[in-house]
Amino acid sequence: MYDVRLTEEQIAFRDLARDFAQNEIKDKALELDKKPTWEERVPWDLLKKGSQLGFRTFCLSEENGGAGVTDHLTSCLIGEELGAGDIGTAYYFMLPARRARDWYELRMTPEQRAYFLPKFLNDDTYFTTVAIHEPDTDLGFDYYTETPPDAQFRTRAVEQKDGSWIINGAKNYQTIGYVAKMLVVMAQTESGPQAFMVEGDTPGLVRRPMSKIGRRVGDNAEIFFDNVKVPKGRILAPNPPRGDLGCTLEIAAMTLGVGRAAFEETLKYTKERRAGGKFLIQHQGVALKLSEMAMKIETSRAIIHKACFMKDNPGAIADGGIEDAPFEHIAGAYTGQAMAEICTEAVELWGGAGVMQGTHIEKYVRDSIVQRHISFPFPARFKIMEHYAEFKRKKNPLLGNGS
Ligand SMILES: Cc1cc2nc3c(=O)[nH]c(=O)nc-3n(C[C@H](O)[C@H](O)[C@H](O)COP(=O)(O)OP(=O)(O)OC[C@H]3O[C@@H](n4cnc5c(N)ncnc54)[C@H](O)[C@@H]3O)c2cc1C
Repeated sequence: MYDVRLTEEQIAFRDLARDFAQNEIKDKALELDKKPTWEERVPWDLLKKGSQLGFRTFCLSEENGGAGVTDHLTSCLIGEELGAGDIGTAYYFMLPARRARDWYELRMTPEQRAYFLPKFLNDDTYFTTVAIHEPDTDLGFDYYTETPPDAQFRTRAVEQKDGSWIINGAKNYQTIGYVAKMLVVMAQTESGPQAFMVEGDTPGLVRRPMSKIGRRVGDNAEIFFDNVKVPKGRILAPNPPRGDLGCTLEIAAMTLGVGRAAFEETLKYTKERRAGGKFLIQHQGVALKLSEMAMKIETSRAIIHKACFMKDNPGAIADGGIEDAPFEHIAGAYTGQAMAEICTEAVELWGGAGVMQGTHIEKYVRDSIVQRHISFPFPARFKIMEHYAEFKRKKNPLLGNGS
């Protein structure tokens, strides 16, 4: 049965994340956001502390050193809270945490797991990235465009006589791409694209940080592969055919956190600032705007949680209790758009103060612009419409072994 109430365990995880985000991440991240170089902006102290609290490993089973949180709803509760503290910091936890379960537990061979899992568990700064996007390759901005069937990654992996691989090529925009200690890299082989597990300290791997307008407390990188040698046995198996993998909903939840934080900060401000003879919130026009924001936040949260339920309960449609709809894409696309709208509206309620640099609200606007892009507004909408039109485009062949 679909139930919107949370379990005691979910409430405990949510509150732990809220406490860490509000008391430790939020103000520190605002200071880091102002630093000119990316090195100064990586929140190392917060990352170590958060890792020790379990936010990097919680999706792994208890026997593998995690907290056994396999469900997306609990992840999204944590993601929203950490995102409300700072979305850049939140990314360092949420993506490696979800991938840890998907990769170490569901996709790696026992030998691969025996090699990589201890490294991940024993190092609070062991982060991971997925390197797919390339500077000059027509990925077709996801699969909606008619990507030619012979399209290929320019990043190439060539097998050597001893079974190892040599990779050459380039990737860009990679989230956590600069500090990641393990990279899953999509590269073209003679038999098609494959996902290679590349260690961050491999000779020939050259990384250049890329600075963003928002989500600045978090690195992105351009990555070059100059004869990078990958040992035999480092190809990550494709996703198994199950619907509970990935972190689209966690990204939506972190984005929701940004919009919620903008709303909360603005609500507070409008209760404190007097203009035109009364507090801002007493102006009806202001109250209407704040209501719109609250509606968008609740709508986003409702659809994210419903999408989580569908992912966590794959049989829910079969018994006719819930309609079949592309919940995950709706949640991602709606939240990305709605939170950017909230932040744009919110900042105007701050008047001149809103456009001054160095405030939380100004940061949320910049963060939300990045998240609107990362909600893949076009491809997600196309996928939603395909569902209702009962029409399925051909999948982009380059993403065949997606990670
Ligand atoms: C902050 C950030 C983090 C990222 N992290 C990663 C990562 O970790 N790993 C990774 O592999 N990649 C990552 N990316 C890359 C991301 O996947 C790409 O930015 C995204 O796929 C868009 O690709 P593009 O920039 O080549 O846009 P293009 O394909 O050049 O598209 C540009 C614009 O054209 C329009 N457009 C394109 N195609 C269509 C269409 N079919 N219909 C309608 N309009 C269309 C859209 O407005 C689109 O935004 C990241 C990017 C950013 C900004």
